[in-house]
Amino acid sequence: MNSIPFHSTGSSEISGEAMKSYSCGNTCTWCDGCGNYGIWAAIKRSLVELGIPPHGVFLCYDVGCHGNMSDKLSGYRFHGLHGRVIPFAAGAKLANPRIPIIAHGGDGACFSEGVGHLVHAIRSNYTMVFILHNNANYGLTTGQASALTWQGQPMNSAPNGMPEATLPSMDFVFSLQPTFVARGFSGDIPQMVSILKAAIQHRGFAFVDMLQACPTYNTFATHEWLLERVYDVAADGHDPSDFVRARAIAVDTSERISTGILYQNTAVPGFYERLKSREGIQTFPVEEVQKYDVREYMQELV
Ligand code: SF4
Repeated sequence: MNSIPFHSTGSSEISGEAMKSYSCGNTCTWCDGCGNYGIWAAIKRSLVELGIPPHGVFLCYDVGCHGNMSDKLSGYRFHGLHGRVIPFAAGAKLANPRIPIIAHGGDGACFSEGVGHLVHAIRSNYTMVFILHNNANYGLTTGQASALTWQGQPMNSAPNGMPEATLPSMDFVFSLQPTFVARGFSGDIPQMVSILKAAIQHRGFAFVDMLQACPTYNTFATHEWLLERVYDVAADGHDPSDFVRARAIAVDTSERISTGILYQNTAVPGFYERLKSREGIQTFPVEEVQKYDVREYMQELV
């Protein structure tokens, strides 16, 4: 029986015991100044403020520096293969649609080998949160250029400057008709908390681009550089139901960088709500697979 005071507060008045229940006691190994510290704190706080205990959430991690959070944040956890966190998380949601799912991936994995999974998760509108740990490089493999590294930027894998064009990630995401797009900054924990709480409660795929400092390998978009440019779209009077303006302010980062909930469409049903053809069927697909007798097919292989 859970004796820790978990209840949805919706405010900054949260229980220290509830926060501690999300800590695993393992020492953080991220570099000093790494943006993962802020994101880690924001995830804990958002879950506690929503009254979700560690046994009430499933956390999926890709390979990358962020993935080391899997032994620093309590809850049901899965640490998978590089670029494959979205299908793991989507599968978990299909198996148990009652539990909130938060999947983490880096810009390297998500926009290279995992990019196909992102496409289909958005069009399927699986109800889950995807946090893009966006530090514009592969930090775990010591500063390789990713698809989001600035073109021309010297990196350890391209010392004379990255020759490829930078992938326009936000334009790409908006081209897929998403139902929730937000952008946070690892230096603003209260804003990340409000974004994550809305993302967790969204019925559909919530894409959260977290701009995060990587002081060890990203010397171009530093914490200070980001701090000078980010602004909160809510304070700017932005209407998150306005798709055209949301896309425009998401894409244009030439002078200022928009943060907050950029776009949300609550009218589009999530994946399970679209399964009209299964009306009246009481089981979940995974239960049906479990019950399927495959002995006949196995015989053919003997
Ligand atoms: Fe963080 Fe970068 Fe260090 Fe990785 S390499 S832990 S992303 S600062």
